[in-house]
Amino acid sequence: MDKGWSDKLKEVKALLSKEATFREGVDKLIAFREEMFAQITQIVMNYPAEAFCRAPFAGADGYHSKTLGYSIWHIFRIEDIVAHEMIAEDEQVFFGRNFREAIRSPIATTGNELAGDEIVEFSRRLDIGALYRYAGEVMASTNRILSGLAYADLKRKFGEDTQARLVASGCVSEDEKAFWLIGYWCGKDVRGLIGMPFSRHWIMHIEAMRRIKNRLCREARKGVDPVAYCGLSCNHCFLGEWCGSCRTAYNACSFATLSPDGQCPNAKCCGEKGIDGCYECDGLEACEKGFYIPSNDGAGAAKAQSLYIRKHGKKAFLKALDRFHEQYDFEKRPEILGQDAAEGLKRLERV
Ligand code: SF4
Ligand code: SF4
Repeated sequence: MDKGWSDKLKEVKALLSKEATFREGVDKLIAFREEMFAQITQIVMNYPAEAFCRAPFAGADGYHSKTLGYSIWHIFRIEDIVAHEMIAEDEQVFFGRNFREAIRSPIATTGNELAGDEIVEFSRRLDIGALYRYAGEVMASTNRILSGLAYADLKRKFGEDTQARLVASGCVSEDEKAFWLIGYWCGKDVRGLIGMPFSRHWIMHIEAMRRIKNRLCREARKGVDPVAYCGLSCNHCFLGEWCGSCRTAYNACSFATLSPDGQCPNAKCCGEKGIDGCYECDGLEACEKGFYIPSNDGAGAAKAQSLYIRKHGKKAFLKALDRFHEQYDFEKRPEILGQDAAEGLKRLERV
């Protein structure tokens, strides 16, 4: 488990365990959930529709064997069911806001009963935009329930009436791969539910989603020119786990994600000019678009790399970057290449 997230979960549990720090624990839990949700947002906002129904680890033993679409569905269906059928005893967000129709899901259950190709087929039918809206509303609804809890509520247990309510809801399949959930949830008190469906369960599935998207990005980059339009190298990029290259539909480079149309200004401009990259552009030295915007502290370094490609070609550039990474210890290239493009070019030529 991600060390940072595991530490946060431990801290939340410790704070919730004492009446004096309970409220702080709830606030930290909500902030932690929002931090995790931001990763789902990144994935939903940056990847193409086909990414959500692919299972690059199909057949593996673990949460990463699912798809991105299924993972979002499963996390938030479980949370919605537990938060509303068990704790609040009111209507689920799914039914109250008629999300089934919007999401176009063939099922209303948690999805535990699905396996292999069924998961891929199920994911293919989902409207991911609607699913993402649903996930956000479930999170907000649960956060409100958490905020309304008192310390004494943590010990609340669930009896046969809750079990009957869950069965009657039809939201847990009778398939043996799913039905055990009812006994599992009802064996916990509210504290136990907070510790699993509302937190740890998120961590496990979002970590699995990270693995899936890392693999999808790697696969997207296979056989694709590793030199980005702006002159950076995807082979040497610290964003490589999030971005599948600006030359593919998995483009999640920072300037693309910051642009309202989701397109990197450099990539867009190169497309309009019909050139392979900024290194082929006569206006490179004076350009202030995208990566080259003066407020970007990496502008000079990015331009230095484009200048290098223009002068020495892509092959030599990729080899120079290999040597550069061997010779220097840094987090980001501008630390070594500096802010001045001409000077950065000279430094790159010296490696
Ligand atoms: S951010 Fe740019 S250099 Fe990095 S992987 Fe994406 S397109 Fe390639
Ligand atoms: S004008 Fe700027 S962004 Fe456009 S191709 Fe030339 S260098 Fe690249």
